[in-house]
Amino acid sequence: MKYVYSFGDGKADGKADMKNLLGGKGANLAEMNLLDIPVPPGFTLTTEVCTEFYKSNKTLPKELDNEVLDCLSSVENIMNAKFGDESNPLLLSVRSGARQSMPGMMETVLNVGLTSKTIPGLINKTNNPRFVYDAYRRLITMYADVVMEKAAGIEPKEGEGIRKKLEHHLSSYKKEYNLKHDTALSEDDWITVIDTFKKEIKNTLGENFPDDANSQLWGGIEAVFKSWNGARAISYRKIENIPEEWGTAVNVQTMVFGNTGEESATGVAFTRNPATGENKFFGEWLTNAQGEDVVAGLRTPHPLNEDTKTKETKNLPSLEESMPSIYNELYDIRIRLEKHYLDMQDIEFTIQDGKLWMLQTRVGKRNGVATIKMAVDMVNENMINKKTALLRVNPDQLEELLHPTLDTENEQNTPILTKGLPAGPGGAKGKAVFTADDAELWHAKGEKVILIREETSPEDVHGMHAAEAILTARGGMTSHAALVARGWGKCCIVGCNELNISVDKKELRVDNTIIKEGDWITMNGALGNVYLGQINLIPADPDTNLEYKQLMTWADETRKLKIRTNAESQDDAKQAIKFGAEGIGLCRTEHMFFDDTRILAMRKMILAENENDRRSAVMELLPFQKEDFKRILKTMEGKPVTIRLLDPPLHEFITLNEKQINELASSLEIDKSTVIQRINSLHELNPMLGHRGCRLGIAYPEITEMQATAILDATAELTKEGVNVLPEIMVPLVGTVTEYTDQESIIRKVAADIENQYGLTLKYLVGTMIELPRACLTADEIAEHAEFFSFGTNDLTQTTYGFSRDDIGSFLPDYLDRNILYEDPFQSLDIHGVGKLVSIAVKLGRKVNPSLKIGICGEHGGDPKSIHFFKNNGLDYVSCSPYRVPIARLSAAQAELNLK
Ligand code: ADP
Ligand code: MG
Ligand code: MG
Repeated sequence: MKYVYSFGDGKADGKADMKNLLGGKGANLAEMNLLDIPVPPGFTLTTEVCTEFYKSNKTLPKELDNEVLDCLSSVENIMNAKFGDESNPLLLSVRSGARQSMPGMMETVLNVGLTSKTIPGLINKTNNPRFVYDAYRRLITMYADVVMEKAAGIEPKEGEGIRKKLEHHLSSYKKEYNLKHDTALSEDDWITVIDTFKKEIKNTLGENFPDDANSQLWGGIEAVFKSWNGARAISYRKIENIPEEWGTAVNVQTMVFGNTGEESATGVAFTRNPATGENKFFGEWLTNAQGEDVVAGLRTPHPLNEDTKTKETKNLPSLEESMPSIYNELYDIRIRLEKHYLDMQDIEFTIQDGKLWMLQTRVGKRNGVATIKMAVDMVNENMINKKTALLRVNPDQLEELLHPTLDTENEQNTPILTKGLPAGPGGAKGKAVFTADDAELWHAKGEKVILIREETSPEDVHGMHAAEAILTARGGMTSHAALVARGWGKCCIVGCNELNISVDKKELRVDNTIIKEGDWITMNGALGNVYLGQINLIPADPDTNLEYKQLMTWADETRKLKIRTNAESQDDAKQAIKFGAEGIGLCRTEHMFFDDTRILAMRKMILAENENDRRSAVMELLPFQKEDFKRILKTMEGKPVTIRLLDPPLHEFITLNEKQINELASSLEIDKSTVIQRINSLHELNPMLGHRGCRLGIAYPEITEMQATAILDATAELTKEGVNVLPEIMVPLVGTVTEYTDQESIIRKVAADIENQYGLTLKYLVGTMIELPRACLTADEIAEHAEFFSFGTNDLTQTTYGFSRDDIGSFLPDYLDRNILYEDPFQSLDIHGVGKLVSIAVKLGRKVNPSLKIGICGEHGGDPKSIHFFKNNGLDYVSCSPYRVPIARLSAAQAELNLK
């Protein structure tokens, strides 16, 4: 097996499509070489080395040594310098690189190979001792942090890590000698600081910083492999669903320096604007700096070009104006990379003494708005076809366009507390919290929070995930916070210089205003404005976005799966139609019983002692129900509406307080104790498996009769008025065909009466919800009678697993942690188990009735992965909540494309 792949000088062992083996960074470094783009030479240790490393108890394969030596010597040949050499030393970077980018999650060590032996040689070679010592202190800091502390498994308390300690020494030195920036430190200053660093390392970590090039190299390599299982990498993998087995590669690469003087620089850029999608080269750079300076947000980065300057950056020098010929070379590389990769790239570059080097290219993260714009633009630019465009947008990214924005009028009347860089979309409001742990804690208690940090680091991702929005005092548009928030489509403002944060006091000052933990804050992520207090959020109107409309038109042309919505109210139904719903897949009638008059009638019905009383109570509800159905059927004119008969356990309606009991007693003209006694008699030990669903209509046929009458009366009246209505009456929780036929016969009889009465033939269907395993297994029997099936995957998941939906929260986290389950089966369909029942039911049902209409109306109807499964199993439609409709439309198109 080949463990190491080299690249350099226009040649490479690997290429772009070898990401699984070389990691994304390594594969693309190889590819750029093949494209004749200048890349510092180096080599990649494969992800298989990482796998071996963990398999053999954290030891590296023996053969690795020689392969590394071979590759190192070809790098030395290209660079005409030698690693560890006294007179002409080569320096290396050791960089992680997984298959899928995990920004900042794993480790990098720069300037490897600086030792007391090689320092004089490098000083001689560069004639720049200050630069050499600056590089050395960076190596020491990174190495101590990454190799000697993190990889060694030492877990210091927050703020007491070795890196923080070293940074503290540096800042006190600067204070003492009144030096503002790192660039103000001389050679001698650095020598003194370095001495302090080494003492601190020995003191804190009990070991000396290694003074040998080879030890540094192998220490770095092992540390990167170990970082794959570092706490932050693990938590990031969980959130992003990256499998543990993948492992990371390690890239060892010749160092190039952006900090040798004013002819040197470093920067990061996107081939198009990742926040808006605009086709404009967009990036940030700094002269005389090493890459980490840009990302860490210690100095305010400068804009790349004139075109993308903003009000805030208009006075800063651009690369375009400062180094025009290098800018042109970089611009040319931008064009070539996009043409080659056919997608927006996120690049890192360094300029050393007037020569441009590319350090990284990868498909750039972008928010939803930008994803859509780029996909549609690239079709119009003839770069990609419609199919690629449709597949490129992750359906969940649409959610961002569906995200709320701030009420403009309300916003204009609110003074701006402070401004920062607009790094993530939409508006958000929440209560201020100052640590990631607090964000998670408050979120778990059901609070909406905004996470406020000096700057974020990968240690904060769990809190960033829990927060509505992220606000930082430092960092630019490519800072960690900005990158992560954009990936998630989350509202984010960075580089808010005026924030004066005290984590200890859990408060924030802006001039004289103090914001304490728990105070409300509102943010406009599109403008970068921060407000004190709450501003109304307005639901989004995606139809104003032309690229979105174009993409959705393509999606609708492509998909065959119909998309319906789950809605009871007219407002929800209207919203869903705006989002493209083609019908209602689930109208839950019990939600219609909760206003004051109705609930009383409902309670009277439930507590009635005999059929007569019950019938008269039920019939009080009839006019209400009829009006409800008329309204919703009319709103959905021309579109099918599936109405489910009463479903929930009755006791849900009779959880009563003292006052309600009194009211009920007087209305029923019985005494209070009788009411209480009857309520108690309805108590069930296991209501989810109790007297609910069609079992209600079987015990109390008058309920079914009333509901059928309301639906069909409404249908008849509307039909008379010339409105085209298509009701589908759905019997819930059927387990045996006899349950179904019992209810069906009531409905058919009502229908016959109404048809007679109006002298009309009504268009309506009667069918059933398939939500019990037994219904799936006997679907052929049920399909002899039912005109449609609609899978109720919530109950079906509940009854297949035997997990109570309402109680799963108490053990699911353990299940996920210990990989007993990989995801919440109530969110994404369990394809192996519940899915198998769905397949069986579809096959059995269609065997009896090939044209049986089949849909799904559980929570899974809006989940992209589940939608693929439903499409592949021949369902006619999925039904989801109104806000998921656009997501379902795109998912359905993707499922169709993947089918072919
Ligand atoms: P990440 O995956 O977190 O982006 P990288 O491996 O890209 O980590 O390294 C972080 C930074 O280190 C880069 O952005 C670059 O500025 C700097 N760097 C890495 N390798 C080199 C190198 N060979 N020469 C100069 N700078 C480098
Ligand atoms: Mg990088
Ligand atoms: Mg159900």
